[in-house]
Amino acid sequence: MSTSLPAVFTANPNLHAYLYVSGDMNSRHGVSRAMAKSILCRNRTEGAEPCGKCDCCIKMDAGTHPDCIVVPAAVKTTVDDIRDIVSEAYLATNEADFKVFILEDADEYNGPSQNALLKVIEEPPSFVRFILTASSAGAILPTVRSRVCSISGNVKKIENTADELRKARQELSESQIMMLSYFAEGYDKADVSALDEKAIENYLDKAYLFLSGKETDIILSLPSKRDELMLCLQVFMLCIRQIALVKMTGKLTAGILSEKLVSECNSKVSMKKAHALYDLFEECYLSIEGYANSNAVLTYLFEKSR
Ligand SMILES: [Zn+2]
Repeated sequence: MSTSLPAVFTANPNLHAYLYVSGDMNSRHGVSRAMAKSILCRNRTEGAEPCGKCDCCIKMDAGTHPDCIVVPAAVKTTVDDIRDIVSEAYLATNEADFKVFILEDADEYNGPSQNALLKVIEEPPSFVRFILTASSAGAILPTVRSRVCSISGNVKKIENTADELRKARQELSESQIMMLSYFAEGYDKADVSALDEKAIENYLDKAYLFLSGKETDIILSLPSKRDELMLCLQVFMLCIRQIALVKMTGKLTAGILSEKLVSECNSKVSMKKAHALYDLFEECYLSIEGYANSNAVLTYLFEKSR
């Protein structure tokens, strides 16, 4: 049975690392193989669909392609295992133009194992592609997450969310509807009608001012109430992820920030800075989630983000 390729992948089929997140094991299995087949296929279409006929496609269908290396889930993947994977990544391919590593259920790797992957994921040899799968993105280290192209298999399509909102919240403007839809997609929010558009709009403004370098002190004006601050940090992280994706793909990608705003922020933030900021915001988010003092976290965030 053929599995369809995720739209994020077909739009960006040449990136070096993907993370496919889905609660459904069959979907993680099927989609990761479908992406690997597309990468290895010798005659894939413009839309990144594999031809199904070349030697690589035939071997992928049979599960015997020597350049598709699957590190199965259920094996305890130690730091040493990861080092072996890294060494293998630097060896030439067997027969295809690329070598694809499928790391199943990478959310079950411990911190040191994920860290051991960082460097090769960030700058793999040109012929290497990584496909990580996870049942939830939460257990993937932020440092890893900001270096891969995340694809969510859990969320409803953005258009569905937008349609739902158009019916349920007729008072919203079209730009508010799209903003909420992108937010819901970024965080797997099921109950979109409960999202607070005014608050998200306000935090989005602040995120833009901060990321475009117009007002770096704005961190001091972030809310200090726990729930509000968590929402605010999520908005910032989503914006940073959008900027990182624009850098990774070299294309202006629609998202919570409009194309104009993301392009402005993109010119002010380097890839390295985007990674560092994402890590910092996520660190702060996790502290707040663990009931750290909001004011202390904001002071820390302010100092570190300068
Ligand atoms: Zn093919």
